[in-house]
Amino acid sequence: MALSLLTPVGEIKGIGPKKEKALADGGIRTVRDLLWHFPKRYRSGKCYPVSSERCGSYAGFALTVISQPSVAFGQGGRRFLRFLAEDENHTRVTLLFFHQIYLKDQIHKGDLLYCYGVLQEKKNAFYLFSPERFDKKPDPEKLYPIYSPVGSVTGKQIEKWIGACLVPTLGEIAETLPDRVVSDNHLMGLAEAVFHLHCPTNENSLKRAKARFSFEGFFDFSVKAKLFSRSQSTVRIPAFPKSDTKPFIRSLPFSLTAAQLRVIDEIRRDLTGSEDIPPMHRLIQGDVGSGKTAVCAAAAYLTAINKKSTLMMAPTEILAEQHAKTFSRFMAPFSIPVLLLTGSTKAAERKAIRSITCSDRPYILIGTHALLEENALCHNVGLTVTDEQHRFGVRQRNLFGEKGGAFHSLVMSATPIPRSLAMFLYAKGSISIIDELPPGRKNVKTCYIGEQKMPELYGFLSEEYKKGHKAYIVCPLIEEGEDGGPDLQSAAEEFAAVKKELPAVPSLFLHGKMKHEEKKAVMDQFRNTDAGILVSTTVIEVGVDVPEATVMVIRNAERFGLSQLHQLRGRVGRGKDLSFCFLVSSHTGKAARERLKKLSECHDGFQLAEYDLRTRGPGEFFGTRQSGFSGAEFTDDLSLETIREASLAADFFLEKASPEELRCYEKDVRLN
Ligand code: ADP
Ligand code: MG
Repeated sequence: MALSLLTPVGEIKGIGPKKEKALADGGIRTVRDLLWHFPKRYRSGKCYPVSSERCGSYAGFALTVISQPSVAFGQGGRRFLRFLAEDENHTRVTLLFFHQIYLKDQIHKGDLLYCYGVLQEKKNAFYLFSPERFDKKPDPEKLYPIYSPVGSVTGKQIEKWIGACLVPTLGEIAETLPDRVVSDNHLMGLAEAVFHLHCPTNENSLKRAKARFSFEGFFDFSVKAKLFSRSQSTVRIPAFPKSDTKPFIRSLPFSLTAAQLRVIDEIRRDLTGSEDIPPMHRLIQGDVGSGKTAVCAAAAYLTAINKKSTLMMAPTEILAEQHAKTFSRFMAPFSIPVLLLTGSTKAAERKAIRSITCSDRPYILIGTHALLEENALCHNVGLTVTDEQHRFGVRQRNLFGEKGGAFHSLVMSATPIPRSLAMFLYAKGSISIIDELPPGRKNVKTCYIGEQKMPELYGFLSEEYKKGHKAYIVCPLIEEGEDGGPDLQSAAEEFAAVKKELPAVPSLFLHGKMKHEEKKAVMDQFRNTDAGILVSTTVIEVGVDVPEATVMVIRNAERFGLSQLHQLRGRVGRGKDLSFCFLVSSHTGKAARERLKKLSECHDGFQLAEYDLRTRGPGEFFGTRQSGFSGAEFTDDLSLETIREASLAADFFLEKASPEELRCYEKDVRLN
């Protein structure tokens, strides 16, 4: 049978029911899905000499084995294979292989190996951890794609199947951007870009292919955002007649900072008056702990006294629950009902919520994405609040808009977005910045240390525990051997080490693959029992508040962006005691070292965000698929220039677009 883009992958030669199932679980059902599984990276056929200069980034090396491989034992008794090799200048490098002890019988002294990995330098010696090996000499002109595995299906298998499907179906791939946008901006066409992502001719063709995708992501976003604000600019809704927020402000258990008061005032000016007004779309940016919640609560209060309801969406259930608790406390004196709706809300409870939301009495409903599935909610809504993910969720901005109501919206950004970037994404004048922390807040003392200091650090954690304090240890991986490399600390391994080194400190383990109830149980236990250490992946990064937590340890800190590290650091220092953040890294790359040093000196989220933008590019702020940004796979190569160009191209396109051309964009932007 001839292959087409819509052919189910089960019909490809070599894919049986088991592999078909594994692919389906990874979201790959058709040939098109398979072709959209792009390489996670490329290895160049070039091989480099072993030197400090090469450290820290992925590269190839031609190495001759000079010592017979032998088995050694590392920390925690894990076995690994070890041997020495040298490059053509006789510079030596130690190779270590975990999980691949069997290589002992396949690699011999005198063999020439082509190894690919991230070279590391420790104490003047070079190391390669579980590099990929090739026996054949690679073509130095070529780029070889490397695919991530999908479940039990290996990257190599995927590569073979893509190879079989790509050319026969390429002609079917239809252009998704308007033709003149492709030509005006000298972009690669879609089919060509797909081809070059899988089979790049050279660095340049790959760069152009990636650029096309990130351009399209931004173009799409810009067109929709512009259509949305255009539709909004003609909409008018009645202004709120009542404007007195003082009773709310007086009822708070603390005095608001000047910055909080200023932002509340900005919101008040947007919302109140005697005439009809355009709906507010305001982004609230503030550093971790700057008190964004209280500001949004003031806006919800203002909405409620004007007899309208507020919907608030949080990125995780844990956070939605936390907000619901805070809001309940804030609203208690005013008898404004605060409701919680998440994926785990039972049918009976949903019914009870619906009976309140259908009445005319104003309420505040807080939840996760589950809110969007409830259709009966738009009744009498005056304000929507979105608490962002760590990363800037582009699509979420308009989600409530898609529900079809015309109401005011506030977006709280948990990570300060660099001002220069925010300018392209939000209209000037509708960004509020809370640039002041509540008084008495101490900076978290931040130390950058090498991995060899871990034993001392465990000692320190034990002392802190005796003082009644708690600590987080964050690792980049859940389990060893996950994508990312064997030199990364896994949370499972760290958890085992903590139990062994600190048997007297009750410790807990949390990771992103756990079910919500499990996560919640662990968080509750950490908060409410004598548990002293929480070992976790980055799931804890968003907004969680445990006042006794005074220590944040981040393993492989070089792996994270500064904004993300700053967020993690913001999990501690929430109580009255001096808090610490340890950035653990033995990474030797100069850029990584400088970034970590920067974090230990700087406590201003906005400065750190600008630094990230300069050194790692804007991709840092759109870095995950969850962000809803459709070019997210290629954000590593994203430049501010691309964003600027895409935004300009969107203006141009909208000026001349025909109704048919607009249609496919409009369907995602519910126009009023
Ligand atoms: P974020 O901006 O990171 O969301 P939160 O709104 O969670 O910060 O506030 C962090 C903590 O500071 C909360 O415990 C909150 O009650 C407290 N807080 C907020 N504003 C003030 C203030 N003006 N004075 C003292 N504490 C405050
Ligand atoms: Mg918050």
